[in-house]
Amino acid sequence: MVISESLSRFAEGWSEADYVGGHPVLDFVNTVADTGKTRLDDKIGRWDAMRGWARGAGLLTGQELASFLQDAALDDDGELARLHGFREQVYEAILGLAGQTDGASPTMAGLERSIRDAMGRGSFAGEGGRFRWRPDARSPRRWLDALALALEELLRSQDVSRLRQCSRCTWFFIDRGRGAGRRWCDMRTCGNRAKAEAFRCR
Ligand SMILES: [Zn+2]
Repeated sequence: MVISESLSRFAEGWSEADYVGGHPVLDFVNTVADTGKTRLDDKIGRWDAMRGWARGAGLLTGQELASFLQDAALDDDGELARLHGFREQVYEAILGLAGQTDGASPTMAGLERSIRDAMGRGSFAGEGGRFRWRPDARSPRRWLDALALALEELLRSQDVSRLRQCSRCTWFFIDRGRGAGRRWCDMRTCGNRAKAEAFRCR
């Protein structure tokens, strides 16, 4: 992809460095700015931030995104709170999958409910020669549904075995490299900070 094209799709406050997870759901879980293992510095505290994030995320088709943005009146504080809850639920579940906590089955059960609900409201539609579950753009729950359906897709894929967490922050990514493996969400941020710290400790 040409760089000028990829930059132009990012909304204010978001850049390529916010989309390093390798999957829209991981990029969504990575919408905290903490540089350590806390998750307090929220980057989607308002709807305009959430909508801006979605523009660069590849979660929705162009048509869906346009329709979501057009019907902004459907988005209220309750739905934004729901998105935050879902984000942290997915975080817990993926930590469990990465073997860092036990299976966390109550969390998984909650996510399964979200996925079932999203399928109940959504449609099974053809897109580029294959079929996918798509959210109902007219439902107030559409953002959550889009994320739940994307999560279902991720959890069924081979990528699950390549899920990793950054050694420094709480971000997740899919390690598609060979060899020793990727340790940082992004070499430009956590990787460089960790190297600088190691240097100071010597
Ligand atoms: Zn990191």
